[in-house]
Amino acid sequence: MDKVLHDYCVGCGLCQSLGMAELAKDGKGYLSPASGDRKRLYDICPAGGSQCRDMDFGQIWGKTEAVFYAYSSDSELRRRASSGGTLTEIAAFLLETHKVDAILHTCASDDDPTKTVVCLSTTRDELIDRSGSRYAISHPLSMLADLDDKKKYAFIGKPCDVTVLRNYQRVNPDLARIITITLSFFCAGLPSEDAQEKLIREMGCDGKIKSLRYRGDGWPGYATATQYDGKVFRMDYNTSWGQILGRDIMRMCRFCLDGIGEMADISCCDAWYLTHDNKPDFSEADGRNAVFCRSKQGWQILKECSQAGNLVISEFPDYEEKLKYMQFYQHDRRATMFAKYLAMKICFKPFPKYSIKILKYQRGVSLMRRLRILKGTIGRVLKGKI
Ligand SMILES: Cc1cc2nc3c(=O)[nH]c(=O)nc-3n(C[C@H](O)[C@H](O)[C@H](O)COP(=O)(O)OP(=O)(O)OC[C@H]3O[C@@H](n4cnc5c(N)ncnc54)[C@H](O)[C@@H]3O)c2cc1C
Repeated sequence: MDKVLHDYCVGCGLCQSLGMAELAKDGKGYLSPASGDRKRLYDICPAGGSQCRDMDFGQIWGKTEAVFYAYSSDSELRRRASSGGTLTEIAAFLLETHKVDAILHTCASDDDPTKTVVCLSTTRDELIDRSGSRYAISHPLSMLADLDDKKKYAFIGKPCDVTVLRNYQRVNPDLARIITITLSFFCAGLPSEDAQEKLIREMGCDGKIKSLRYRGDGWPGYATATQYDGKVFRMDYNTSWGQILGRDIMRMCRFCLDGIGEMADISCCDAWYLTHDNKPDFSEADGRNAVFCRSKQGWQILKECSQAGNLVISEFPDYEEKLKYMQFYQHDRRATMFAKYLAMKICFKPFPKYSIKILKYQRGVSLMRRLRILKGTIGRVLKGKI
């Protein structure tokens, strides 16, 4: 298989679902194509660079119609969800106003709570039950072939899933008539199966697990594993994500150009409060999202949802300044992408086919930082870590 497509696959599952490729699982649990239609994959996969056509390279936070702080006015949903429950609230609003018949998204597997599976939700209760971030491998586009072409759907997925879906819809307008709205979230990367096992081990679990939540039930809340014998184990967000899950992510995630859901109608992230020295404050608080309306349709939906009283929104005029600190990793990954590209080229390593316009992102980054990233990436290649 083509090295770029293989090494930088996002594992969304669309190609296999529609008979374009055969996917195989690696030792860490990630899928990538073992064989397939190279040309069609280049047209739809993020590594093929096709998303670059629609990006606003002049904006580090991507194309935007409007940006707000937001949270669900349902305090139970706000508490339970990943951040402020904005995505789930918007999805529920889309169902309640009959804009769509179902939401295509993901939830924990009933058979193994460490696994994440694709699902269709048709009620508010189902959506709330399935809210929350799952820091685990997901294949949200793996059931496209099963959708009913007489129905309308909204899709919630990672930025890369939305990119693939949008790219595919461009060549297959029938699917654009079925999945009419896309919602996404900022995504720093997808932890491996090894990372799941490490998390469970370090939490101290000693029995069979009945449920596993990664955060939520507060903001950020705790990673919480509940065993069949009733024992409950918890770990704080900083340790579970910062020390374990976030350190073992998919290869493509380290080189991802769009961790901010630029292709979606609406994209949400954590709007962390900042400490006096501009670090995200992970102490418990009531959940709050920053919400990006990326299209006119997204902006219209957000307006209607807040006018109906389902969402509480407020202006976020200084988002460019604040998000640099709230979402340091997202800013840095984009802003230093050219340095990583250069390092991989120097080492003759395959790299996603991004537009040279990624150069524009590095404007706000010091030369020292760019050189450090260049040197560090070359060092990791030489040590065989990339
Ligand atoms: C892998 C991953 C990385 C993340 N990285 C960041 C980050 O860098 N910065 C940041 O601010 N926030 C990150 N988040 C959290 C994300 O920002 C919040 O989920 C977002 O703010 C939405 O909050 P909410 O309360 O509106 O979501 P909710 O209302 O709780 O809804 C979350 C939705 O996301 C879907 N979902 C959960 N896990 C997955 C998954 N693995 N794959 C596909 N869909 C899923 C659920 O089905 C649900 O519909 C990440 C989440 C994940 C799963």
